[in-house]
Amino acid sequence: MPSETKYKGIPVSPGISIGKAYLYLRSSFEVDTEFLNENEIGKELEDFSRAIELSKKELNKIRSLTHEMIGKKNSLIFDAQLEILADKFFITGVVNRIHNEKRTASFIFDEEMSKIGNALLSANDEYLKERVADIKDVRNRVLRNMKKEKLVSKVAEYSIVIAHELTPADTILFSKRKVQGYATDKGGTTSHAAIVSRALRVPAVVGMKDISKNILQDDMIIIDGFNGLIIKNPAEKTLKNYKKKLEELRVFENTLSEVINLPSETLDNKKVELTANIEFDEEISFIVNTGHCGIGLYRTEHLFLEAGDFPSEERQIEEYTHISNVTYPNTVTIRTYDIGGDKLLPRSEKEDNPFLGWRGIRICLDRVDIFKEQLSAILISSVKKNVRIMFPMISSVSEVLKAKKILNEVKNDLDKKGINYDKKIEVGIMIEVPSAYFLADELAKEVDFFSIGTNDLIQYLLAVDRGNEYISGLYQEFHPAVLRAVKSITDAALRNNIKISVCGEMASDPLATIVLVGLGVDELSVVPSVFPNIKHIIRKINYKEAKIFCDEILTLSLEEDIRTRIENYFKTKLL
Ligand code: PEP
Ligand code: MG
Repeated sequence: MPSETKYKGIPVSPGISIGKAYLYLRSSFEVDTEFLNENEIGKELEDFSRAIELSKKELNKIRSLTHEMIGKKNSLIFDAQLEILADKFFITGVVNRIHNEKRTASFIFDEEMSKIGNALLSANDEYLKERVADIKDVRNRVLRNMKKEKLVSKVAEYSIVIAHELTPADTILFSKRKVQGYATDKGGTTSHAAIVSRALRVPAVVGMKDISKNILQDDMIIIDGFNGLIIKNPAEKTLKNYKKKLEELRVFENTLSEVINLPSETLDNKKVELTANIEFDEEISFIVNTGHCGIGLYRTEHLFLEAGDFPSEERQIEEYTHISNVTYPNTVTIRTYDIGGDKLLPRSEKEDNPFLGWRGIRICLDRVDIFKEQLSAILISSVKKNVRIMFPMISSVSEVLKAKKILNEVKNDLDKKGINYDKKIEVGIMIEVPSAYFLADELAKEVDFFSIGTNDLIQYLLAVDRGNEYISGLYQEFHPAVLRAVKSITDAALRNNIKISVCGEMASDPLATIVLVGLGVDELSVVPSVFPNIKHIIRKINYKEAKIFCDEILTLSLEEDIRTRIENYFKTKLL
């Protein structure tokens, strides 16, 4: 019996599947390097033009299939590929070179596509680099069609696909064969194959380096999309564990689907609004599946990431209106750009301390033109009166005053143009910088709501970089200073009669629910995958008891003691 081997990669789509591997080895399409005779050129051009038309037809078909399966947004992936083939300037360039240089169409086309690929590779931008896979896909498709080869995908149904690299087209076509998971040597979290598998809710692990060399056709494997693992020839014990996990997941999902339509309130009827954090477009479908919950944090950075620059006002209006419509009648809190820090910056120079650098509201107050466009787009999208605006990285009262002044100028401009918007739109801020916590009372007088960004608040309060794995043990959400800060911020909000939510990852930790509810937080905005679980826990909490529990743990000075108390409470009362 062969022994069990584990391979680790980047988890990009959660879930577990057990099954046989289907090794997808894409043949590399060789290029004909020979020169052509004058009388061969006509035929070559004909073949080339036929291959382009056929490729367009295939891509159009895949695009409508994608649209049908996972929505219009995701089908746009193929527009970029189609655009290349429809680009007359580009195609004429290839045709002219075939004429002039008397080389084969595959040779010239390959060279021209490589130029585009190299330009993308040299960009100092991960997203653009990942688009090289799309370029390769177009190249291979056209070369294959020139050779009149058929794409034979004989994937066995219910298998787990292992490949060096997958294009979104592969991912979509394979899903027709009920594929149970994807693992690839290459790719990152923003690769389209990752995005497509998340949208299809199929586990996927990418960046596995040489998984396609380590797995053989029909090997028995487990894919663990939670932990980014492929386990080859699992031992009986591992298999048993995973089968148990699968069964637990199934039971869990069933219980959770029951909870979805129940109110989010404690045993003693204290309402705790549960909303979702949305970062990627494809997560929007989640809102619909949960019975249209609200969105407590809509991160707008992805628009910047997609466009590689600030998106146009039109593009933003389209996006924000869509999100407002999908969420209606619930509320969506749109956070203005929080770029910088660990997210992309609109300039290439690196900062020594990006987390203490040009980030969030600081960029917006410096680039008023960009900020105004975003505010205008949010206002124009607010006609259904279910949109709120939130400013990130606030560290002083003056920043709020400046941001509100700019917002008023944008409102006046819209009034002058007679453009409709929600005149009473609520404005809030993230409390995620220690100075804002000290100024909470003054800040509360200026806004309609606070949302505590624990991800940053913890890192700034404890001086622990949120992304540094060497000190991850020091990044503690139950550190007494963190709990006391959350308490004072919440008290300041309640004292000033404004709403208070938590939208950092702490809100998504089932262990932390008892604490946040007990401290009096009105709303928890959580990552979509834990939404039902957190609701389940809220419904098991007794608010009066939770308040007493919080008073007790706030007197403790050791994180270990606080954690132990919380874990015990969780095990005995909330499981
Ligand atoms: C936070 O800091 O807690 C937060 C929600 O914002 P981000 O993670 O986007 O910085
Ligand atoms: Mg933050």
